[in-house]
Amino acid sequence: GTQTDFDAVEVFLTETLVPEARNLRAVVERADDEGMPRIEVMPNHGKLLELLVQMIHARRVLEIGTLGGYSTIWLASGLQPGGTVVSLELEPRHAEVAAESIAAAGLRDRAEIRVGPALDTLTELGRSGADPFDLIFIDADKENIPAYIDAAVELARPGAVLILDNAVWHGAILNPDSADEAAIGVRRGLEAIGRHPRLTATAIQTVGSKGWDGFAIALVT
Ligand code: SAM
Repeated sequence: GTQTDFDAVEVFLTETLVPEARNLRAVVERADDEGMPRIEVMPNHGKLLELLVQMIHARRVLEIGTLGGYSTIWLASGLQPGGTVVSLELEPRHAEVAAESIAAAGLRDRAEIRVGPALDTLTELGRSGADPFDLIFIDADKENIPAYIDAAVELARPGAVLILDNAVWHGAILNPDSADEAAIGVRRGLEAIGRHPRLTATAIQTVGSKGWDGFAIALVT
């Protein structure tokens, strides 16, 4: 297949199985108008996040990396009544735009954005004895992925699901001597998942409009 084939298949799959993604286009357009990068999850991956939340009946979801709230909205849509997504974002402007889009989607009472470096917020969540999370989605700066994984396991209940986005990074993870700090972060993150005594995991390669990438999925034991 070529990139054109991958794009066409993505359109077919999304139109056939995820028609509701159309309603969320405005969220991405809003972020784009604000000059934010187009690095949100693809619609078919967003739907996977919603499905996973539904499948495990998650009530507490943690997201690291909010951007314009696109994945936050997918996660929040899958929650049981009374459930919440806590989403961590460094950039105040991203958090503001996301909060507006989340409110416009009618999900204001199901999502809470915490502004600041995620590592600090994760430490605070641990110290404050926050209730454990059922599902954690990691999609922020790649350099800190190993630290995010350790923090995520600490904040998760046994049986929780951990999802790491961008697990293939265009294949750049194969080069351990890369000058690409992001590629090194993703690779070290995968290695950390692989050897973590409380995680059992796999990873899936994907193609589509965002190129060659993938995600890792782990169960906290
Ligand atoms: N999950 C979003 C989605 O799919 O719609 C996309 C998130 S985007 C790939 C990564 C986000 O992480 C950006 O908004 C960026 O500002 C944020 N970020 C970068 N470094 C961070 C840090 N140290 N702490 C928290 N957020 C950070």
